[in-house]
Amino acid sequence: MNIYPVIEKLLIYGEEHLSMDELDAVYCRNKILEKLSLKDYEQYEINVDEIDDMTSPDALLEQLYQYALDKALIKPENKTEFFQDMMDIVSLRPGQMTDEFGNILKRSSTKAMSWLTEYCSKNGSVIQNPTLRRWEAKGTKGKLEINVVKPIEKNNGKYPECDMCLQNVGFGLTKATRPVLLPIGDENNFWIFDKAQYATGLGKLICEYHSPAIFDFSSLNYAFDFVELIPEYFAVLPYKCAHAHLWGGYKTLPFHRTPELKKVKSKEYPYINISIVDWYMSAMRFTCTNREKLVEFTMKLAKTYLGEDENREVIVSVRMIENKYCVEMIFDNSTSKSKSAVKAEATDLDKFGIITLDSALDNHMTQFDIYLTKELPFSAELLPPELRPYKQMLIKLMKEVGDNKISSIEAQIDIKDAINTESEKLLEDLRVFDDAEFSQFLAKLSIA
Ligand SMILES: [Zn+2]
Repeated sequence: MNIYPVIEKLLIYGEEHLSMDELDAVYCRNKILEKLSLKDYEQYEINVDEIDDMTSPDALLEQLYQYALDKALIKPENKTEFFQDMMDIVSLRPGQMTDEFGNILKRSSTKAMSWLTEYCSKNGSVIQNPTLRRWEAKGTKGKLEINVVKPIEKNNGKYPECDMCLQNVGFGLTKATRPVLLPIGDENNFWIFDKAQYATGLGKLICEYHSPAIFDFSSLNYAFDFVELIPEYFAVLPYKCAHAHLWGGYKTLPFHRTPELKKVKSKEYPYINISIVDWYMSAMRFTCTNREKLVEFTMKLAKTYLGEDENREVIVSVRMIENKYCVEMIFDNSTSKSKSAVKAEATDLDKFGIITLDSALDNHMTQFDIYLTKELPFSAELLPPELRPYKQMLIKLMKEVGDNKISSIEAQIDIKDAINTESEKLLEDLRVFDDAEFSQFLAKLSIA
């Protein structure tokens, strides 16, 4: 394989898509040559239009990887790191990223975030297609989005201290990751897009240091600062985490779009619009133009709930709707367990309606299909061990099919419906209040 034109194409890709300075071309080229153990170089003419049309560097990286593999320079298990190595070379340095981003941010946060989104997608630090299967569960409340996810390789040594640490930048499997500094708070806070984009613009605002996240007045204010700076994004405060952060994304998730179930009024804060929302878990929504009062009310409500039991937790989302602040609170309890067949524990993202299911389900769905289409006789007692968690779900599915002969397409529809129902169960099982209990709780705060 003549590798030189491929190297030249990657350099042009860097110039065209990743703001690589033309003056850095020789420097970057030599870095690539070094990685490929090459001692010389031949320049080739490249069709720039062809590179302009590319939306991902993967086709070029595959060729470089194949070359390195053929020459025994790397092992197949190092593919991800090799891709990251190459993209790290042709991407801007992290400090330059913050400078570029900061310049655009001064003009418009919308433009700055869309520049960053495109950059991180084109430099391969986010995975454009992170799912094996993905569908919208149309019949479910709030239209849950179901993602059977691809496995993601992570840095897993003692260093960096955790997934979220800034030490991941330029390191191992996350070499091409590019955080940007946001002008929020007194300490340095960086925005980093999640590698797997299960919903548009998912990312995290992380604190520079590895210190635990706590839900309090100051973290709540960080969330408000974030949405004031970037009003098209929402912010969510995790209740507990080893590394202080908030996570967010572009526009809304299914939970945000769920309608009001019941409007209520607070005697103390009559100007705040308060409602209980129609979600699987117990949840409320408050909107108001006065940030200070809304923060005060949110803290008061959270403290009342949390104070009654040490296992209680709240997940708080903050966003802007036109000129109003909107806070949404999900009431949770760390001891609540779900009996769903698809997942034992729900992540915060699941709780907002983006359900992420293990990659193994991809194969399992094919196996379910074989039973439903009667290609293989079904026996609940003789299920292979990996399918046992789905026993009840399968019995129900088989009963529905009965003696009918159904096609694989029909079987897939039935299987997806069953998974949708189990995904609803995952969240329903975490509900902490029934209607009467909810009213009793709110009465303590003179809300009715
Ligand atoms: Zn950390």
